[in-house]
Amino acid sequence: MTEGLLTAAYIVASILFILSLGGLSHQETARRGNIYGMIGMLIAVFATIWGSQVTSYEVLTVAMIIGAIIGTIVALKVEMTGMPQLVAMLHSFVGLAAVLVGFANYIHMAAATSPLVGAEKVIHEVEIYLGVLIGAITFTGSVIAFGKLQGIVGSRPLLLPGRHILNLGLGIACIWFGVEFINAENLAAGLIPLSIMTAIALVFGVHMVMAIGGADMPVVVSMLNSYSGWAAAAIGFMLGNDLLIITGALVGSSGAILSYIMCRAMNRNFLSVIAGGFGTKAGTASSGGSDDEGKEVVSTTVEETAHLFQDAKSVIIVPGYGMAVAQAQHPVSEITKKLRDKGITVRFGIHPVAGRLPGHMNVLLAEAKVPYDIVLEMDEINDDFPETDVVLVIGANDTVNPAAQDDPNSPIAGMPVLEVWKAKTTIVMKRSMASGYAGVGNPLFFKENTRMLFGDAKASVDGILTNL
Ligand code: NDP
Repeated sequence: MTEGLLTAAYIVASILFILSLGGLSHQETARRGNIYGMIGMLIAVFATIWGSQVTSYEVLTVAMIIGAIIGTIVALKVEMTGMPQLVAMLHSFVGLAAVLVGFANYIHMAAATSPLVGAEKVIHEVEIYLGVLIGAITFTGSVIAFGKLQGIVGSRPLLLPGRHILNLGLGIACIWFGVEFINAENLAAGLIPLSIMTAIALVFGVHMVMAIGGADMPVVVSMLNSYSGWAAAAIGFMLGNDLLIITGALVGSSGAILSYIMCRAMNRNFLSVIAGGFGTKAGTASSGGSDDEGKEVVSTTVEETAHLFQDAKSVIIVPGYGMAVAQAQHPVSEITKKLRDKGITVRFGIHPVAGRLPGHMNVLLAEAKVPYDIVLEMDEINDDFPETDVVLVIGANDTVNPAAQDDPNSPIAGMPVLEVWKAKTTIVMKRSMASGYAGVGNPLFFKENTRMLFGDAKASVDGILTNL
C-alpha cells in the first residue's frame, strides 16, 4: 500500500472513531456508534497490515489468529456483570504493550544503522520513557482493578503509613532515572535506568489502585481507561504512527472527561480520589450504622408488592448492580408495560455509578426495550420522590444509602444518592442484609416506610408479574 493510500485510510478511520464516540453519547445512537467504531478499527488494522512498516507476515498472522480466537471465546463467554473486569483486563494489555514496545523501540533505535542524534534523539527517548512509565502504571493498576472488581482483591483501601510520602518518593525517583536515561551514553547504560523506572512504575500502579476504596472504583476504572489511551498515544509517537496517536488521544481525553463526570457524580475531588483512602472509616458490613443496632426490618411479599402497585398512581423503579446479577431487566420491562397499560406513571431513576460500569443500567434497560424517555438521570428525578407512591429498589444499595447525607462519619458521606426513602412506600429487593460494593451499612432498610422483599431479584420480579 502506498503512503498516500495509508494516510487516506488512517484519516477515514479517525473520522469513524470520532463519529463512533459521538454516537455512543446517546442511547438511541449507541448501536450506530459501535458500528462506526468497528468499521474504523477494521480499516485501521488492514491498512496497517498492508503498510510499508510490516515486512514479515508469519509472526503477525500467527499472533493475530491466536488473539482473534481468545478474543472471540472471551467475548462470547463474558456475562454482562463481568464486563467491568474484562474492560480492566483489556486496559492492562494496552499498558503491557506500551512497556514492551518501548523497550523494543529503544533496543531497535540503538541498533539502527543511522541512529538519531541531538534534539531528535532526546525527543524520541522522552517518548519512550513516558510511554513505558504510563504503560507500566496502567498495566499493574488495571490488574489490581481487575482483582478488586472480580472480588479476588478486597475492596477496602490499603493505607500504608506515609503513603503520600511514598508516592512522592516514587515520583521523584522516576524523574531522576529519566534524566539518567536521557544522558546514558549507550544501550546498556540506558537500559538500567529504564528498567529501574519500569519496576518503580509497576509498584506505583499496584499501590495507587490498592489505596482506593470500593466506592471510588468507578473513577479508577475510567481513569485507567484514560491512561490506556495515553499509553496507546505514546506507542503511536514511538512508532511514528499517526492513527495510534489520534486514537490514543481520543481514548485518553474521553476517559479523562468520564473520570471528571464520575467525580462530579460522587461529589469527589479528582486529586483526593487518586490520593486514595475514600471508604476507610468504619462501616458495618451487614446492617446500618450504630443507630440501627437492634432495629428490626419489615419484610414484605410479592403479593403485597403487587397490591401496592395496583393501588399506586406513580411508581419509580431504581435498579442497581443486583438487577444485573439477577438478569431481572426483562421481567422488569414487562412489569413496566403492565403498569403503564393500567394508567400508572412508571419511571426509572438511574444513579451515575449504579452497577459496575458507566451506563451499566441504561444498557440493561435498553436491551430489555424499556422506552428511553422514562429512564431518567438522578438529577432529573431526585425531587420527585416525595410525590411518588411506590419506589421499587432492585438490587441497589450504595446508590440509595441515606447515610451519605445524614452521617458525616460515613465512608460515603457527601456522595449524592437517590432519595428513595422520601416516597410513600419504598420496597427494597435483595437477598440478604449484606452491604453493597462500598461495604457500608444502609439505614434505608430500617426506615418506617421501607419494606424488604428478600430473594433473588429475578424470582421476586417474576413473582410480582404473576400477581399483577
Ligand atoms: P451495590 O453494589 O451497592 O449493591 C448491590 C446490591 O445488590 C447488594 O447489596 C446485593 O445485596 C444485591 N444483589 C446482588 N445480587 C442480587 C440478586 N441476584 N438479587 C437481588 N439482589 C442482589 O449496587 P449499586 O448499584 O447501588 O452501587 C454500585 C456500587 O458499585 C457503588 O458503590 C459504586 O461506586 C461501585 N462501582 C461502580 C462502578 C460503575 O462504573 N458504575 C464501577 C465499580 C464500582 P444481597 O447480596 O443482599 O443480595
